[in-house]
Amino acid sequence: MPGTRFPLEIQPRIPAQLQRLSEVANDLVYSWDRSIRSLYHRLDKELWDACGHNPKMFLRRVAQERLDDAVADRSFMEDYRRVMAAYDSYREHRVHPELAEVFDPEEDLIAYFCLEFGFHESFPIYSGGLGILAGDHCKAASDLGLPFVAVGLLYQAGYFTQTIDGHGHQQVSYTRSHPHDLPVVPALTASGQHLTLDIEFPGRTIKTQVWTAQAGHIKLYLLDTNVPANSEEDRRITNQLYGGDREMRLQQELVLGVGGVRALRDLGLRPTVWHINEGHAAFQLLERCAYRMHEGLDFASAMELVAAGTVFTTHTPVPAGHDIFEHQLVAKYLQPMSSALGLDFEKLYALGLNSGDGFNMTSLALRCTRFHNGVSRIHGGVASEMEQGIWPQVPHAENPIRYVTNGVHLQTFLAREWTSLFDLRLDDWRNELLNDEYWERLEEIPDYHYWSVHKALKQQLLQRVREVLSAQHERNGTSDAVVKRMIRPLDDEDADILVMGFARRFATYKRAGMLFENPQRLSRILNDPERPAVIVFAGKAHPNDHPGQQLIKMIHDYSVHPDFIGKIFLLEGYDMALARAMVSGVDVWLNTPEYPLEASGTSGQKAGLNGAVNLSVLDGWWDEGYTGDNGWGITPRDEHFEHDQRQHEEASDLLNIIEHEVIPKYYQRDGSGYSHQWVALSKASMKSTIPRFNAQRMLRDYVRDFYAPARNQRRKLEADDAALARQLASWKQRVREAWPGVSMELLVQPSAHLFHDEKIMLRVNAHLNGLGAGDVKLECLLGRERPDGELDVQQTAALSAMGEDNGTVLFGIDLDADLAGLQYYKLRMYPFNDAQSHPFEMGAMIWI
Ligand SMILES: *Cc1c(COP(=O)(O)O)cnc(C)c1O
Repeated sequence: MPGTRFPLEIQPRIPAQLQRLSEVANDLVYSWDRSIRSLYHRLDKELWDACGHNPKMFLRRVAQERLDDAVADRSFMEDYRRVMAAYDSYREHRVHPELAEVFDPEEDLIAYFCLEFGFHESFPIYSGGLGILAGDHCKAASDLGLPFVAVGLLYQAGYFTQTIDGHGHQQVSYTRSHPHDLPVVPALTASGQHLTLDIEFPGRTIKTQVWTAQAGHIKLYLLDTNVPANSEEDRRITNQLYGGDREMRLQQELVLGVGGVRALRDLGLRPTVWHINEGHAAFQLLERCAYRMHEGLDFASAMELVAAGTVFTTHTPVPAGHDIFEHQLVAKYLQPMSSALGLDFEKLYALGLNSGDGFNMTSLALRCTRFHNGVSRIHGGVASEMEQGIWPQVPHAENPIRYVTNGVHLQTFLAREWTSLFDLRLDDWRNELLNDEYWERLEEIPDYHYWSVHKALKQQLLQRVREVLSAQHERNGTSDAVVKRMIRPLDDEDADILVMGFARRFATYKRAGMLFENPQRLSRILNDPERPAVIVFAGKAHPNDHPGQQLIKMIHDYSVHPDFIGKIFLLEGYDMALARAMVSGVDVWLNTPEYPLEASGTSGQKAGLNGAVNLSVLDGWWDEGYTGDNGWGITPRDEHFEHDQRQHEEASDLLNIIEHEVIPKYYQRDGSGYSHQWVALSKASMKSTIPRFNAQRMLRDYVRDFYAPARNQRRKLEADDAALARQLASWKQRVREAWPGVSMELLVQPSAHLFHDEKIMLRVNAHLNGLGAGDVKLECLLGRERPDGELDVQQTAALSAMGEDNGTVLFGIDLDADLAGLQYYKLRMYPFNDAQSHPFEMGAMIWI
């Protein structure tokens, strides 16, 4: 038909009785409160799905008569009032008592920066794990009533939408969303204008406008360059998440880092703790320094102050995963910053130097913050080792990188059916999220009841698998007969077949292909007519990640292969909605990362809290979560194995466990229609995951170990016109100059054989090159030898200064050795100043 098609949207008038549906559409509480979402869902399920579960869009498009009918429907109105009352009481609740002792909501504010935030599928400004973690962090901050704001970017096109074509090729498309479709409103200046700020770019100034999203008790501020005053090119800076080239990424990071700090300042907010989630946001450190210098500090003192109040979390265990920019690009964009900081550009550039080439955002973040962490125990260790160059003389195990194990937001990921069951059976469970013992009460739930909930969730997932696959394959022109063959095995509800799930970003280190190392064997296992099993796959690969897309194609090809048809399913369009359905609908959650590259792997936590059983390589969170009776762990082969050999060994463990443990246990039915042994396993999974891996636990760890210390440290350095910050900066300058000339030697050494009542007498001469005895610490480390030849330190003792002669200080100690047998000791010296956040933050240390 010729001619133009003009859109026309007929909007209903929301009846006064339902006015608050619009109010809650603008509060991201809907992203975790399923009872709010269920109101929209009940009004018009089809439209709700068609709008991508977006409440604002839904309310603009819902038919007037649906709303009018709802007003007349007593049961709907009753639920509406109940849901709104619950929402009001959530909004009223105050700071969690434990946190109220630490933070003063009038004084304190935590500002959290991240390049992506995953709250809900209707708000597509996330790509995967990092963003969803950031969303969960915000949700838990709201639950706990922390004084907290978040800062990110508002993308028009967000991350891509995935379809998979008939050949198994991933197809990428982008839908533009307009701010009026998103749960945001303009951030306003004191005079009521839409807040817009300037950022200096090469040869021009760009404008950035700021939006506010409310998420319960907290606010999220989002920056956006799609402003008419900008050039077409600059308007596109915040168009796509992880799109564009290196230059666009750098531009985005400047908007986030520099613009984010300016936005908070223009809004009159003065954070007392800053948290940088992944290196992308690290430019904020420089902007904050520039601001401090404006207030009269020199660069080094400003940096001490900024660093002391900042927490940095790293998520990427591979060096290639870090953001690195070329010299020329950095020079082009950071000139204005280097003049604002009064720093020679090369000095500024050096803040981002690492062993490789280029300006590394992780290095910048590590050098200019004092509180750093990885996201699981293993990952903390990997990060310490990988980043040891930042503290060159400090053994990596002792450098200041620690860890907080990720957790997931329970209400977001726990299925509605479990929530209802808990409401029925467990009182006050929402206030017991951190209480291990409390969750033993899951044992009080009768197995049949427990299993009926799980089984219903599994049926919902299988229904969805059927729908998604039918649509996917119809579009691709797959024949009806093939589609039928594919989905028929899912129809038999009574069989209650074993369903395993694998859903994640298709990055090669996640080794999605490991299951297919021995396809004949896998096919034989899955096709056992007595004990059938299926595996559901989903996930995106970054558009530039070709090996990742190869994996998608490989799984697609298996899914239509005669040996696997009806056994292997590949679903397109992985997003938070599909993730929720999968983690709550499968029996087993599979994860096969290459150790130690899975920083955390939060999807396994989402599965565990819904009672799915994890079968995973012992890496990331699962190394901490696996108790021996709550799932299965594949022990990673050590690094002495050849790469292929390792993969082969672990792949055969995986199939052995599936064949000899998972399937027999699952089908151990004893005539009751389900396996009691399996229910015990599922309960063990749920009760071990909920209290230990939920986002509130994570947040309280951050508060205790990072936010509170950073707040205190910054406060200490800031007092009296930043007296301590200035003193610390000039002390460090002095130490840096003197340190290359510092040395020490052992003057008196105890004999190598002592009786147990003798003292270990040590005397050391330290040549301090102009530093004083109080500027350093000398320590004796005592312990046994470990099998790898390292010292297993049992005791650390400080030597004291005993006299000084011409710049040489005599240090000594007479140590009572409460020890027996063969021992070893070592002596070391490092610069010491009480005002530091960490004793080794300078990275300087010498040994005898
Ligand atoms: C939880 C989640 C992730 C991250 O999961 P990993 O286990 O880290 O791979 C990615 N995408 C979605 C949609 C999720 O919900």
